[in-house]
Amino acid sequence: MATPRIRLIVLVAGLLSAAASVGQSIPANVASGAAALRDRALDGELAWEIVESLTMEVGPRPAGSAADRAAVAWAVDTMTRLGFSNVHTDAVDVPHWDRGTLELRMTAPYAQPLVATSLGGSPGTPETGIEAPVVRVESLAALLELTQAELEGRIAYVDHVMERDRSGSGYGVSSVIRACAHVAAAERGALATVIRSAGTSRHRFAHTGGMLIGGAPAKIPGIALSNADADILTHAVNTGEQVSVRLLSTARDLPPTQSANVVGEVPGSGELADEIVILAAHLDSWDLGTGAIDDASGVGIVLAAAKLIMDSGERPRRTVRVVLYAAEEIGIYGGRQYAEAHADSIPRHVVGLEADFGPGRVWRFSSRVAEEALGLVDELHALLAPLGIERGDNEGFGGADLGPLQRQGMPVFDLSQDGTTYFDYHHTADDTLDKVDRDDLNQNVAAYVTAAFVAANIEGDFGRLPVTTGQRSCPK
Ligand SMILES: [Zn+2]
Repeated sequence: MATPRIRLIVLVAGLLSAAASVGQSIPANVASGAAALRDRALDGELAWEIVESLTMEVGPRPAGSAADRAAVAWAVDTMTRLGFSNVHTDAVDVPHWDRGTLELRMTAPYAQPLVATSLGGSPGTPETGIEAPVVRVESLAALLELTQAELEGRIAYVDHVMERDRSGSGYGVSSVIRACAHVAAAERGALATVIRSAGTSRHRFAHTGGMLIGGAPAKIPGIALSNADADILTHAVNTGEQVSVRLLSTARDLPPTQSANVVGEVPGSGELADEIVILAAHLDSWDLGTGAIDDASGVGIVLAAAKLIMDSGERPRRTVRVVLYAAEEIGIYGGRQYAEAHADSIPRHVVGLEADFGPGRVWRFSSRVAEEALGLVDELHALLAPLGIERGDNEGFGGADLGPLQRQGMPVFDLSQDGTTYFDYHHTADDTLDKVDRDDLNQNVAAYVTAAFVAANIEGDFGRLPVTTGQRSCPK
């Protein structure tokens, strides 16, 4: 037992270490442990098996559907079978949107069927359909400049071609058009909105995706054309003749229902055990494909990474918590529910990593941490560099589901997947298992386990971020 004097010294040392706990360097044993798991991950089977099982045996799992409930049961069963602790579901109230059927035809200046799909959350048309002239613009800004007289009784067509690049940056503009064009069009009296798909595919199918921001219902239908069909419509507009289309959609909202976030843990041990390193992916998918790249891949990556930590022979110091979120696609319902339900413990979430950008190889490591932790993050990057990962900046995004936690101060890491081909398949019928490469998937697991293991085992942390509101709204 310590004498009072020694106890005092221990206490002072403890205070000093607490004050200096942000951004301490990575001890050699933690670095070597992370490197060993990183290398083991490259030969793994588990991530692939998870993606295969979820896509082949559950398949499309849009929020609120029977398959969504099957996905929740699959996740509970899978986490339990893998040996996760504290496996449970947190109920999430979700909308239940049904795509129904869609027919879209150009009726003037000549007749031609067009391949298109409804955007998530779109209302349908009256039973008799809608037939109206088309007004084409190339951007949301141009749409916002149109007057009521120019759009009243017409169909707005936003023809923006999404840029392809590794970071997926083109999705920013395109997804805002998808979410906001119908708002501007409805305010100006338009009957429906048609957009060129937010996607880079040259195949003849359309990319769906959510069209609602903040849960406000859409007033008019929102439709996405395949890129090839947008070319057809644009060609018609360029003839200078009046172009009309006819639209018949049975999309509708069914009664709201419940889904669940599915949570499982690798429990920490010791005095940091109540601190959390959170690994996130989303369980739901759109209905058109089997949700292999979006987001079964993320589910496989985070579960396999956590399983490697579980099997490493020693419990981590912090708890590694995997959350498979509900209803991300239709409006981040699970992500918002989690942050509300766990509001008291957000300060104990020391860092978050989300996997929701497909299975492409991770090429960049960005962070959003307190300034004083940047040296620590650079050390972590040195452990990721052998995977071919470059260091990004400290402007990391963190992911859609972790956004509500990040805006409440939780630091985040971005392990950026190569998104060069991601938007060829994203939100389409082509989002299937054959698009997933096992080696690339394992490189992701290696990157995630490296970062998560280090975060879970070091003495210090990454500080806190300023609290922000992050309210999304459409430009006016
Ligand atoms: Zn996703």
